Amino acid sequence: MLRPAHPCRTTLLPLGVLSAGMACLVTILGRDANASQTYDVVPPPVCTNHKGEDVSFIDSGSARSGIAAGMARRDAGGKPVVVRSNYSAAPPVFQSFIDRHECAHHQTGDVDRPHPPRNGPEHLMNESISDCVAILRLRDEDGYDKAGFDQVASALRSEMEKIGFPEISISSRISNIENCFRKMGAPREFIERILHRRGLLQP
Ligand SMILES: [Zn+2]
Repeated sequence: MLRPAHPCRTTLLPLGVLSAGMACLVTILGRDANASQTYDVVPPPVCTNHKGEDVSFIDSGSARSGIAAGMARRDAGGKPVVVRSNYSAAPPVFQSFIDRHECAHHQTGDVDRPHPPRNGPEHLMNESISDCVAILRLRDEDGYDKAGFDQVASALRSEMEKIGFPEISISSRISNIENCFRKMGAPREFIERILHRRGLLQP
């Protein structure tokens, strides 16, 4: 997810590079303004990275109270993981989208590549690609129809507004996933095109 122009402490995307060549990709899901409403946490999707390794989803509590976030990275032992922080603060439809978005950073090899400059064109492209994979998986694997898409788009808008993203960031992000949802083929084919372009396609 893109980050608005205020400090990493409150928006934390991306947190930064954990170690040489290892990206740390974080997505803010949103924050519960009244810290009152909570939601059930959805089961994570199947996720395998570009090297065929299984990606584990780890629920971490509420280190940052009221802020739900996802983070794709390798853990201290080198295992690919998605860390889900405070997911109960965000609606299930949005948890599902962000799980698949973070998984896509593993599927496309982003996590194992040097992190491009924050909010530069390459970074924004990586975020658009992960968003696209996420919405294609919801469409093809979870049966999201137009009504399902609208729920994702509306949750995305609402969470981004809460965090303070400008309208142009919100509408361009929604327009990207809408294009993917309407026009793109299967997520696997899309991922393979990306991997091919990056020279990461496994033989
Ligand atoms: Zn991302």
